[in-house]
Amino acid sequence: MPSRSGPTPRFAVDAMLGRLARWLRALGFDTTYSPDIDDHDLVALANREQRILLTRDQHLITFLRPDQGLLLRTGRPLVQLDRVARAFGLSPTDDLFNRCLMCNSRLRAATTNEIATRVPERPRTLPGPFLACPGCGRIYWPGSHVRRMRRELAEIFPELRAGGAGP
Ligand SMILES: [Zn+2]
Repeated sequence: MPSRSGPTPRFAVDAMLGRLARWLRALGFDTTYSPDIDDHDLVALANREQRILLTRDQHLITFLRPDQGLLLRTGRPLVQLDRVARAFGLSPTDDLFNRCLMCNSRLRAATTNEIATRVPERPRTLPGPFLACPGCGRIYWPGSHVRRMRRELAEIFPELRAGGAGP
């Protein structure tokens, strides 16, 4: 796997890659996903914000020529993630599960009031951490969903397999 130096890569994904966006966000990578944006605007956004454009659309790479782009030929999100990780030398950041899967905002600690009013009774007894999204208001906690995602990520990133950092 090639290693990448320089700043942490950021991504812009096309309308076909919503699930890949969630995986990249779970890993801590800043990833925009706007399914309604048109191709020209998507390329302009990626170039302006120095994001790597990930797409399933050959036309977008060939004709619109983003500054940085990668064509993904598979429709399977975890295979796409593996491909992106290899192409750009990605490894999980310290920010694992610290970014909203839905809107890409960095999460903050949930307040006592948010935990009391927004988290269902059973998960409320978990040790946490409970995190809140300042963008869309979702509350996150380390339940079975996080464990399952972590297991799937460990198939690609062996360093997550045993006792790594995070939930
Ligand atoms: Zn959010």
